[in-house]
Amino acid sequence: PSCMREAALEIPQVRWEDIGGQHETKQLLREAVEWPLLHPEAFQRMGIRPPKGVLLYGPPGCSKTLTAKALATEAGLNFIAVRGPELFSKWVGESEKAVRAVFRKARAAAPAIVFFDEIDALTIKRGASGSSTSVGDRVLAQLLTEMDGIEPFVNVIVVAATNRPDVIDPGILRPDRIDRLVYVGPPDLETRGEILRIQLRKTACADDVDIEILADRTDGFSGAEVVALCQDAAIEAISEDPDAECVYMRHFEMCLRGFKKRITPEMIE
Ligand code: ATP
Repeated sequence: PSCMREAALEIPQVRWEDIGGQHETKQLLREAVEWPLLHPEAFQRMGIRPPKGVLLYGPPGCSKTLTAKALATEAGLNFIAVRGPELFSKWVGESEKAVRAVFRKARAAAPAIVFFDEIDALTIKRGASGSSTSVGDRVLAQLLTEMDGIEPFVNVIVVAATNRPDVIDPGILRPDRIDRLVYVGPPDLETRGEILRIQLRKTACADDVDIEILADRTDGFSGAEVVALCQDAAIEAISEDPDAECVYMRHFEMCLRGFKKRITPEMIE
């Protein structure tokens, strides 16, 4: 079977401006990924090596994936996405091969980003399963080997994402592997306003829809939940009247009342 199917190659279409807020995250990633690609001679002159990998961590739905994609779009990199758990479920007994295939594909597609979503599934601390030769350990070993084999300036960079940085094997986070850790937190008031503005650009809204109020009322929401609220409100308007011309503030209010948030305090740094 072709392991290649496992890792979808795509060229994302996400621009930095599609992501509300997160200015610091954007800046850190530009420095770590864009600069070395644009100015390799400067890095060599100064004797510094660009990072091989970056870990984005933080609560679910707060733009880790979006950020990795924007990085690829803006720096003109191919984007190879792999979900940690999928490597195991679809490639029973072949997970190490799948890891190898992902990197082979990345080298062939360079300059490229390999995006490992839910990387915690691949790198649960060694020995956690009780046996030292579990599939998980072999996959991790393969991942470390591949990371060690990345040549600086050959333009393959690993971006990994997790909601659970605490369970990641420290071996992968050593210098010269994934050694930049970037926290991607829940959106603040201003960022929620930006996400609402970005999202509602596509929605016919009545004049009474007040983004400032909605930003305020969505305290504790993830970015994904802010987007979901906008969608729920539109569906509410349609269910009330299929010929509805636009969404009103009351539709948002109805949806806000029943909204169940996913982010819990222990997910926030
Ligand atoms: P998970 O940990 O669940 O994989 P994630 O952090 O990778 O989540 P994304 O997949 O990037 O989150 O975000 C989910 C969706 O939420 C995005 O597709 C987008 O619609 C919306 N979203 C989240 N944060 C933002 C933001 N800052 N600006 C615009 N949209 C956002």
